[in-house]
Amino acid sequence: MKYISTRNSDHRLSFSEALIHGLAADGGLYVPEQFPQFAKHDFDGPNHIRQIANNLLAPFLQGDALEASLSQICDETFDFDVKLVGLEKMPPALAIAQAKTALLELFHGPTAAFKDIGAGFLAACMSRLNSQADTPLTVLVATSGDTGGAVAAAFHNKPNLNVVVLYPEGKVSPLQQKQLSCWDGNVRTFGVRGVFDDCQRMVKEAFADDAWRTAMNLTSANSINIGRLLPQMTYYAAASRWHLRRHGVMPNFIIPSGNLGNMMACVYARECGVPIGEVVLAVNANRPVTHFLATGEYRGFETVPTLANAMDVGDPSNMERLRHLWPDMATLRKKIRVIQVDDASIRATIKAGPSDWGQVFDPHTACAIAARAQIGAENTHGASPAHWVVVSTAHPAKFDTIVEPLIGRTVELPAQLAQLLDKPDYSRTIDPTLAALKSALS
Ligand SMILES: *Cc1c(COP(=O)(O)O)cnc(C)c1O
Repeated sequence: MKYISTRNSDHRLSFSEALIHGLAADGGLYVPEQFPQFAKHDFDGPNHIRQIANNLLAPFLQGDALEASLSQICDETFDFDVKLVGLEKMPPALAIAQAKTALLELFHGPTAAFKDIGAGFLAACMSRLNSQADTPLTVLVATSGDTGGAVAAAFHNKPNLNVVVLYPEGKVSPLQQKQLSCWDGNVRTFGVRGVFDDCQRMVKEAFADDAWRTAMNLTSANSINIGRLLPQMTYYAAASRWHLRRHGVMPNFIIPSGNLGNMMACVYARECGVPIGEVVLAVNANRPVTHFLATGEYRGFETVPTLANAMDVGDPSNMERLRHLWPDMATLRKKIRVIQVDDASIRATIKAGPSDWGQVFDPHTACAIAARAQIGAENTHGASPAHWVVVSTAHPAKFDTIVEPLIGRTVELPAQLAQLLDKPDYSRTIDPTLAALKSALS
């Protein structure tokens, strides 16, 4: 299997090369040259997500340096639960759909959000790819909060890798601060005296500094990396398998979306033949996708801050993969649907979570649940009402300051977050310049 740039199909690379490069030199994103074709019964066998990952991803790593390690890489990535749980309740108007609606919980990893899965797979791959080199790879990340924590947790103690995380000091939540700063050993965290844009600028300057980039063996782990996207296909294949076993009907999915990585993974899985019906994107007040589907013209928008802030994206990086897959607008419109959810609706959904749905939702999941409510009990594809899996991307305790006042009680921290609170803070504060970063690391 080869990977091509969305901007030039003559530029063909192996999976490992695409993973280390991150972004193609022409500015495009790497995509698989073609999709392997599975038959429906290919997923009838294994039930465990590690085995499903191994089967699904094997053709994507065929002929690659990492091919022989895939099974171990999958074991390392999926060393926490992914669960498909039925909803206890639905609002009265939807009660007839309750047995046919499930929640796909992707938040049982180290930082209690779905980015743990992509980051874990990337770390397991990069650590192996660099095992023969003299200089460890240094993964440099700028974060506004969540991504840096997921990368630090995934890369901590992985051999042949160092991680440097830059975050805007004082501008992340107390829990995020803990998630970023509790690492020692191969992870170094710096609170930058500035804003997120300063952190991003420092990263750009570091990559533009050829001598330092080479000396440090710098690489990036950002969300456009194909090594983060492909493993995310796995939980769609697993959820499809589990739902089919329980109900004998393939599910449709609702995915809370921002940069569109999670949704592309679902679409890629469906392209490979995984039994998946409709793919619906739930988006917050940010409008790039809705505008694009409505008008057929793509343009970026200024980012609007919302309660579901990990989805506050005005110019989604994976849009280029989406348009590359379906350049024809009429086709694209048949393949995905988008439902826009404003903050008032997110707030109302969180508030009604315990009474109407028997669940406490974080703001991102609440966005997808609100979309589920909008769809109603309609019959879209034969079975009435249709079967839906709503993707839950974060644990509500991560967003306690939003969730707790709305539901009027505290949300218990999951064990993996609770244990962070007792850990020391290893982060250091630096000025917002590359010179300051260099001297802190020397
Ligand atoms: C990143 C994130 C999203 C959005 O995922 P994309 O792949 O960027 O569309 C949704 N929910 C949570 C909790 C996230 O952290």
